[in-house]
Amino acid sequence: MKYIGAHTSAAGGVENAPLRAKEIGASAFALFTKNQRQWAAKPLTDQSIAAFKTNLEFAGIKSEHVLPHDSYLINLGHPEEEPLNKSRNAFLDELQRCEQLGLKLLNFHPGSHLKKISEEDSLARVAESINWALNQTSDVVAVIENTSGQGTNLGYKFEHLAAIIDQVEDKSRVGVCLDTCHTFTAGYDLRTTADCEKSFGEFDSIVGFKYLRGMHINGSKAKFASRVDRHHSLTQGEMGLDVFRYIMNSEHFDDIPMVLETIDETIWPEEIQLLYSLIEA
Ligand SMILES: [Zn+2]
Ligand SMILES: [Zn+2]
Repeated sequence: MKYIGAHTSAAGGVENAPLRAKEIGASAFALFTKNQRQWAAKPLTDQSIAAFKTNLEFAGIKSEHVLPHDSYLINLGHPEEEPLNKSRNAFLDELQRCEQLGLKLLNFHPGSHLKKISEEDSLARVAESINWALNQTSDVVAVIENTSGQGTNLGYKFEHLAAIIDQVEDKSRVGVCLDTCHTFTAGYDLRTTADCEKSFGEFDSIVGFKYLRGMHINGSKAKFASRVDRHHSLTQGEMGLDVFRYIMNSEHFDDIPMVLETIDETIWPEEIQLLYSLIEA
């Protein structure tokens, strides 16, 4: 089974996100459990937590098909001690918020070396950060997202994801999320079925599909291998539809949340239907 949704707004409270997901015909969704551009966040209230759980059930969406995304400020591979600690504490808070909501996954970008340490050292810090945070929580899976590799961001090579996983102690609590736009602009072609076979085959041999816990389904405004992160609607941009047909017909993508982060949210219901229509009988 395929579970598709979008990154829905949690404006007015996290409990609103499942309702918005239901409105667009989603069977999965992503959300921010706090303001993604601020460090500080008020704790979730008992009322909000209870309403989230009720609304999730009402929407008919399982907790394992919700893929929360952490704050953009967090850099678990930060080269400097004080901002690294700030990031680690914020990441732990994000994991704890997921646990309070009964959610199983937390999606995050690996981090940036900021040209102050090597990629390798920064990746080791990311893994240490994950170990530190997982040790203080009980069951949420840390889901590393691949990136376009803009600036000094890590995660644009499948080897980066593998290097982090390799250094995480509890392999049952680490996974990855592939973003189609990031994959393509990082230099893994997805324009034809043959390109998909090759690029996803590389992913399988370097990381392994057993670690795939979510997908971000996006078109790309930026060109192939440009290392630029600009999402587009599915039917527009540089990739075409073959990649989405490939994903919808491959069992490697069964039973995980697949989330649209496309730029025109008014067409999310149509994009969800489009994806289902690509399934070949
Ligand atoms: Zn992301
Ligand atoms: Zn993404």
